[in-house]
Amino acid sequence: MIVSGICYLPRSSKRQNASIQFLPSDRIRLVSEQEQHEWLLSELTLSEPLGSVPRKVIFPDGTQFIADDQRVLDGWLWSGKGSWLNRVEQNTPMIAASLAAIVVVCVLLFSHGVPWLTGALVRVMPEQVSHAVGEHVLATLDDHLLEPTALSRSQQVAINTRFEQVVIALPSLSVQPRLIFRRWGNGPNAIALSDGTVIVFDSLVELAETPEQLDSVILHELGHIQHQHVMKSLVRSTLLSAAVAVMTGESTGLIDVFSGVGVFLVTQGYSRDAEEEADQFAAEQMLHLHGSVAPMQQMYELLKATAGEGDLPQWLSTHPKLEERIKVIAQ
Ligand SMILES: [Zn+2]
Repeated sequence: MIVSGICYLPRSSKRQNASIQFLPSDRIRLVSEQEQHEWLLSELTLSEPLGSVPRKVIFPDGTQFIADDQRVLDGWLWSGKGSWLNRVEQNTPMIAASLAAIVVVCVLLFSHGVPWLTGALVRVMPEQVSHAVGEHVLATLDDHLLEPTALSRSQQVAINTRFEQVVIALPSLSVQPRLIFRRWGNGPNAIALSDGTVIVFDSLVELAETPEQLDSVILHELGHIQHQHVMKSLVRSTLLSAAVAVMTGESTGLIDVFSGVGVFLVTQGYSRDAEEEADQFAAEQMLHLHGSVAPMQQMYELLKATAGEGDLPQWLSTHPKLEERIKVIAQ
C-alpha cells in the first residue's frame, strides 16, 4: 500500500513529491525526491485535520508528509486501531447523530437527573434546614407582603381545632404541620412553607362557605408539605442556578436564589406535577375524611368565580385548564 503526497524536509519550506509505504511489522517508509527512510508507526505524530488544513504525518526527524488523498491515508492509519473521533470527523451523519445524542443526554439530565438529585438531596437534608428556610420565608413575607389577621380569636381557634383533628386523621407527615392566619390583599389563597407551616389568608376563610371547603385548600397545602415541594423547588432552582453558574462562570445566580427565597415562593410557584400531587393528596384525604370530593370542587369553583383571571391564586393560575383539574379530582 502506497500513499502519494508531498513532504517538507526538516528546516525546509520547499515541498517535494513524496510517498509513504506501509510495511509489515508496523513499519512505514517515506520516499522523497532526495531520500528514503523507514520508521516505526509508533514513532509518528499525527496532526489533527482542522477545517481545510489537512492532517500531517510528522516523522521523528521533523519531516512532514501530507497525503494527496486524506481519506486513503486515514483509512489506513485508523483501520484496526482507529480513533473514534477521527472517524466521526469525516462522517457528517455521525456528527449529526452525536449532536442529537448530546442533546438527548442534556434533556435527560435535566428531566430525570435534576429531579432525582433534588429528591436525594431533600431526603438527606437535615430537618433544621427546612425549619430555618421556613422561618426565614415567613419573616420575609411578614416584612414585605403580609399583614396580621383580622379574624376573630374564636374564629381562629375554631379553624385551628378543626385543623388539628384533620392532621390527626392524616398519614404521618414528614414535618409537624401548624396553621397560622395572615391578611393579604392579593386574593384568597393559602401557602405552605417548608417547615410545615400553612398560612391561610383571611380572604380564603371568608370565601369558603363550609368548613369542608376550607379543609380542601388546607389539605392541598398539606399535600405540598407531605411531598416536600417547597424544599424540592428551592433545591431544584439552586441546582439549576448552580449549573448555569458553572457553565457561565457567573456565581451571583446562587446568591440570588438564596436571598430571594421568600419572593421565589410567592412568584414562581410549583411545577404542574407538584400541583397535581398536592391535588391528588387533597382529593384522597377529602374522600377519607368526608367521603366526598364535592367540597373541593365547590371550593375551586368559588375561587375561579371570585378571582379575576389575573389574580387567581397562584396554585390555581399555574393551571389554565381549571376545569380539567376539577374533572380529575372528581374521578
Ligand atoms: Zn398548590
